[in-house]
Amino acid sequence: MTERVETRLVAGGRAQGAGAPLGSTIVVSSTYRLGGELEYGRDGNEAWRALEDLVGELEGGHGVAFGSGLAACAAVLDALPPGGTIVAPRSAYHGFTEQLRVREAAGRLRVRRIADIADAGEVAAALPGADMVWLETPSNPLIAIADIAAAAAAREPGCLLAVDGTFATPLLQQPLALGADIVVHSATKYIGGHADLLLGIAVCRDPAAAQRLAAVRVREGAIPGALEAFLALRGMRTLAVRLERAQANAGELAVRLDRHPAVTRVRYPGLPDDPGHALAARQMSGFGAMLAFETTGGADAADAVCARLRVISAATSLGGVETLIERRARYESERRAGTPETLLRLSVGIEHVEDLWADLDQALAAASS
Ligand SMILES: *Cc1c(COP(=O)(O)O)cnc(C)c1O
Repeated sequence: MTERVETRLVAGGRAQGAGAPLGSTIVVSSTYRLGGELEYGRDGNEAWRALEDLVGELEGGHGVAFGSGLAACAAVLDALPPGGTIVAPRSAYHGFTEQLRVREAAGRLRVRRIADIADAGEVAAALPGADMVWLETPSNPLIAIADIAAAAAAREPGCLLAVDGTFATPLLQQPLALGADIVVHSATKYIGGHADLLLGIAVCRDPAAAQRLAAVRVREGAIPGALEAFLALRGMRTLAVRLERAQANAGELAVRLDRHPAVTRVRYPGLPDDPGHALAARQMSGFGAMLAFETTGGADAADAVCARLRVISAATSLGGVETLIERRARYESERRAGTPETLLRLSVGIEHVEDLWADLDQALAAASS
């Protein structure tokens, strides 16, 4: 298709031909009468396929949907040989760093951890002999930006480059075009967009690699539900407009938070003095709607800010229409990865920006002292 992305989001992943339903079909059945293409529910589903077609087409590859973002990450790690070496960020989505930690502890993988994923030189220095390099950009929860093209150019032949693009969505960044082999999304977040499903999707440049991932999905049983795939596809229809509003809100809140006396640091690549600004401006078509800020006072003061919010909900997860806040260092794994104690991750939603600001401003009074 040659249409622009906003149009492809609406038109893609639909059945064609006279009499075809405009919406995707949800087949609620674990088994099928023998003799057709599908025999058992673990092998495939029309609703997955529609979603995979659309996300795959946007990313320029072949999509494989999973039961969650972490199931997609685990399936990608499955491609590593026993005892293989992965270069990965020290700070990343904590569920993923846990997957690495347990595999490393069991002697199944060697992990070379990158302290600062924004330092392309540190990434390049860790690459010799590695089987895979994993980037997450923008990163969760530090909102750091990693240089995808630099890592693609620096790795040796045979070293796979995987990118978790959850915060960027398929709209703001195209890792495969920058040289990555695989891009992973937690569709639980922006793709679904309404905090009502869990689903993951991996997109591979190489169709044979996508087939291997699909085989892992069947073997390990990490399949998405038909209803979840239907909802994720429905979420995709409005992704461009949701993101446009959320991103505009995030840009405005970042500027105001940056000026607030109770805020010591704001991490948002849209701010001109953010360390990731120049790279994000090159690598992404927008700065996204995820930001993080640190408050004056300690962890208790940051928790008090969350407790005083009324419009914004204190809850984990991100990428929905509703603004959510969380102090990430409440998790042991995040503290180990060096997440600052008072860092509040803000997933900016699509509410009116003045209501969001009024809420933040009154809550920040709790941190000022
Ligand atoms: C949430 C998240 C995941 C995990 O996805 P689930 O759908 O919750 O399993 C992976 N990566 C990032 C960056 C995330 O934010």
